[in-house]
Amino acid sequence: MSTLACCGPFGALVDEAGIRGLSIVASRVGQARGFRLQTRAFDAATEASEIARRRSLPVEYRGNAKIALHAQIGMRFCPFCGTDLQELIRANEPAFDELSARHAGLLLP
Ligand SMILES: [Zn+2]
Repeated sequence: MSTLACCGPFGALVDEAGIRGLSIVASRVGQARGFRLQTRAFDAATEASEIARRRSLPVEYRGNAKIALHAQIGMRFCPFCGTDLQELIRANEPAFDELSARHAGLLLP
């Protein structure tokens, strides 16, 4: 489990950052620190390299419906235990900054 977590489920999702499915990503832009709930259809490495190279999805898709490859939204509180995430960050700022540096390439625009 991640060293920076308020509870087990939160830490488990932090450990999933960049992997397809649901995850939690640490974000730092200047002095603005926070966590973002993120979902990906593909692993970050696959999405970046395969889609750019092929200029298409890395799987065959013949439907007409639009699909979302990824989505992201900021979080104020842990959805599992209710912890105020800004308080968690303030109490663990060096660990958060290290985590956000590792997650920097995973944030969505
Ligand atoms: Zn929690």
